[in-house]
Amino acid sequence: MATIGPASDSPAVLAAMQDAGMDVARLPLAHGSIDEAVARLRRVREAAPEVGVLVDLPGPKIRTTAFPEGGVNLVTGTEVDICPQGLAPHSSEERIGVSLPELVESLQEGDRVALGDGGVALMVEKRDGYTVRARVLAGGKVQGRPGVTAPATRLSLKTPTPEDIERLEVLLAEGIESVAVSFVRTASDLETVKSLVGREVLVCAKMETPEAVGEMDDILRVADTVMVARGDLGVRVPFEDVPHIQKKLIRSCIAWGRPVITATQMLESMVNSPVPTRAEVTDVANAVFDGTSAVMLSGESAIGVDPVNAVATMARIARRADLDFDSHQWSRNLPIQHFASEGAGSARITAAIGAAAWRAAIDEKAAVVIACTNSGATARAITRYRPPCPIVAATPFAFTARQLTTSWGVDTVLVPAEAKSTDEAVDNGIEAARLAGYAKPGDVAVVLAGSLHDPTSPVTDTLRLVRIY
Ligand code: PEP
Repeated sequence: MATIGPASDSPAVLAAMQDAGMDVARLPLAHGSIDEAVARLRRVREAAPEVGVLVDLPGPKIRTTAFPEGGVNLVTGTEVDICPQGLAPHSSEERIGVSLPELVESLQEGDRVALGDGGVALMVEKRDGYTVRARVLAGGKVQGRPGVTAPATRLSLKTPTPEDIERLEVLLAEGIESVAVSFVRTASDLETVKSLVGREVLVCAKMETPEAVGEMDDILRVADTVMVARGDLGVRVPFEDVPHIQKKLIRSCIAWGRPVITATQMLESMVNSPVPTRAEVTDVANAVFDGTSAVMLSGESAIGVDPVNAVATMARIARRADLDFDSHQWSRNLPIQHFASEGAGSARITAAIGAAAWRAAIDEKAAVVIACTNSGATARAITRYRPPCPIVAATPFAFTARQLTTSWGVDTVLVPAEAKSTDEAVDNGIEAARLAGYAKPGDVAVVLAGSLHDPTSPVTDTLRLVRIY
């Protein structure tokens, strides 16, 4: 997954990123106007039609006003004023404007304020009217409009914000397939967005507040996908907790069958460099070993020197890590994960059929697992089991195909039309997978199909083992 920004906006770069391995483009709405976001979305659709798009609602993120082009260096030990944006429409080494005046009003002596992903830290020393004077505790370069994080007790804003909702409405009219919600605290924050977008659009919970981590199971029950948003998370919890939260979240997402994205600073040095550090390479590979469904580029692809190279590098690391994927160890963990978090009814049936398909793929040394799916749910039900052969989703809908790009290991083939019976769905799926080279005569295909009875409650209830003729 790659974040799109000024460095990756041109059709030629977008097409090259798709060729280099980008499966999903993340469009953050934190910067620029809604018209610019719509234009960017259309460019992605045109230049990279196979990639999924994740529109990222910024939520109540507080930012500085813009620093000068090229950024400035805040020097440790120096003093700087923090004031409402009206008093500092541009930020500098001496004066930092903040987009929410109430935050500046609420700051008190001794408060620590972090800029960006937390590398730069300030300490409030005294107030002078609407402005506070702070000392730079940890200096560094700041550029663009970095986020501002103050102690959680100072201000607690609701997500989604009214601006999020306005922007979402415009983008829904463009037919977006997935939306991410920033600064989720409770399951009801997600439910608000779900009630706006309807059943088809996937809603991704960005896990970046301690409150959300505390409510993990409730949030996962409602979320369609999840992002471990390590940047904001790492300024809100002690940074040494981040790897533990990442692992716990990935494990829980597997148990719940939710695709999970590991995000932020994965190849950070590639913002400026053509090669990653060895520690970054190891971080990406470890996320794959942990079972993440997707790994995400942020600044590397949005503002970096070579977004295409960053995508190619990440794809290379992920492919290598997947080669050593230990399905055996995975299968030993599955009995614990299996059913652990399923509710009653259709979810349990889907989980049971998914587990049976995975077992059958191993026992029959199947060439392929084919998930016949309209909504994508059947394909998502099997990916959690990581069968040792390709998973192919056979769907009539390009929309569904784009949504499945976030799921682990799913390739998609398009079938001609919505099937009228389970037999027809199975036949169409086999034929499309065979034509695309996933199965040849003599192979066994494990085929899964969802119920056609009740579209409001999708359930994967059919498993067939088919020898290809
Ligand atoms: C993060 O904080 O890790 C993140 C992905 O959020 P954003 O890039 O939107 O700040």
